This record gives sequence, structure tokens and C-alpha cells, in this order.
Amino acid sequence: MTEQTSTARTVLVTGGNRGIGRAIAEAFVAAGDNVVVTSRSGGDGPDGAHTVRADVTDSASVDAAFKEIEAQFGPVEVLVANAGVTKDALLVRMKEADFQDVIDTNLTGAFRVVQRATKGFMRLKRGRVVFISSVVGYTGAPGQVNYASSKAGLVGMARAITRELGSRGVTANVVAPGYIDTAMTQELPEEVKENYRSMIPVNRFGHASEVAAAVTYLVSEGAAYVSGAIIPVDGGLGVGH
Ligand code: NDP
Repeated sequence: MTEQTSTARTVLVTGGNRGIGRAIAEAFVAAGDNVVVTSRSGGDGPDGAHTVRADVTDSASVDAAFKEIEAQFGPVEVLVANAGVTKDALLVRMKEADFQDVIDTNLTGAFRVVQRATKGFMRLKRGRVVFISSVVGYTGAPGQVNYASSKAGLVGMARAITRELGSRGVTANVVAPGYIDTAMTQELPEEVKENYRSMIPVNRFGHASEVAAAVTYLVSEGAAYVSGAIIPVDGGLGVGH
């Protein structure tokens, strides 16, 4: 764990043990913040980050994780709601349970963590929230009615929080990645990946570190006047939407 300094913030990244969340956590560790990542599996985050086990579908588990973090580092000042899952199927075949499970992790899970974090924001009189959405939240994608709905919902959540808590020193923004090279996209068949690549104006998948760069900007001092915004990190895939 990095030494706690007077300028270090307490940063929580949900799902920070791998993929995009891990790259985001690495960026905050490099900046000298006190970084905590959650995972369900208990898999560790990057070197220099502290890991707590938490399942965002379970409010008691989220509350226990926050208590553990607060006891060690004080209130969370920066929350990155990144944990997410997919359960793709075409609409006619999608099971209601698979719709609900994806909403429960990606959208209600974000609600659970941001609601719990807000207690600390009120004490600190400031807070920064970044929701990791997806280009699919505004372009849509076949087979992803559940996922697209959950990711679009995060935009409404960030904007409602902006209006509700903007005067209390809290900003809430959205980063919407396109296709990023992580386990989630590595599972795709090669021809599907090639098809996606051909639709991306910069003609490549993104790096998780490029998503992290947008997140660190949104929680920087320079972004204090940015709230309710969406930053696409998608190589231009979503332009026009
Ligand atoms: P990964 O599948 O690599 O990682 C997902 C993370 O979420 C893991 O750390 C996982 O933890 C965690 N997680 C899943 N369910 C829960 C839960 N119930 N409670 C707590 N943690 C949970 O995904 P990516 O890194 O690719 O994606 C990260 C985010 O970025 C997601 O929200 C995803 O929708 C979004 N995104 C990804 C894109 C991509 O191209 N990869 C594109 C656009 C958006 P555990 O290890 O414990 O399972």
C-alpha cells in the first residue's frame, strides 16, 4: 500500500482486479492516491492498491467494504463504478433473469456503491464519481438489450446526481469505452473482432490505459467544472450518436 499523504485521496475502483478497472487503479496508484479495488473473487488489484472483497449486487457486502475502507483510509473521495458483466442473447431468446442480472450488476450495482459513497462525500463536502458505461449505451448492439439498457441508465444516473449534488461539491461523469482489449473482448471470435475493427475509425481496439486517462482527467482539479458529461473513448466508433 502506498503511504498516505496529505494530498492523497481515497479512491475506490469497483472491479479493479482486472481489465479496465485494473488499468484505472494503476493510474491512481501512480498518482500517489490511496487506491482500493473491489472484486468478487478476491483477486488482487495492481501493486500498491489494497483489495477488498465486495459484490456490487449485495448492499450488505458493499456496506462492509466501505466500512473496511473508511476505517483504514477515511471516506472515499473518488469513486469509479466500473464493475460490469455481459449476458448476451437476442431479444426473443433473452431470459428475464439474464436481463435482470445484468441490470443488477451494471446499473443497480452502480447505484449501491454511489449511494453508499455519498455518505462520505457529505462529510468531506466533495466527491468525484465516474461511471464506466459503453458506446453500446447510445449506439445499441444486437444481442445486448440488457447490457445497452444498463449502460444507457448510467448516463441518467450521472446527470441526476449532477443536479442533486452539484452544489455539494460532487461531480458525476460517464466514460464510454468502445472496444477495449480486455478479457471481455478477447472472448469474441476472430471474425467478429475483425468486423468490429473495420467499423472503428482509428482501426484498432483501445487500450485500457486510454480509458484510465479519461477517468483521471475527470477527477482532476482541472475538471472541477465538468459534471454530467460523457467522454467517449472509442476510436470514433460512436461519432454522431
Ligand atoms: P472484465 O470482465 O475484465 O472485468 C470485470 C470486472 O467487474 C471484474 O473485476 C469483476 O470482478 C467485476 N465484477 C463483475 N461483477 C461484479 C459484481 N457483482 N461485484 C463486484 N465486481 C464485479 O471487464 P472489462 O475490464 O472489460 O470491463 C470493465 C467495465 O468496462 C465494465 O463495466 C464493462 O461493461 C465496461 N466496458 C468494457 C469494454 C471492453 O471493450 N472491454 C467496452 C465498454 C465498456 P471479478 O473478477 O471478481 O469477477
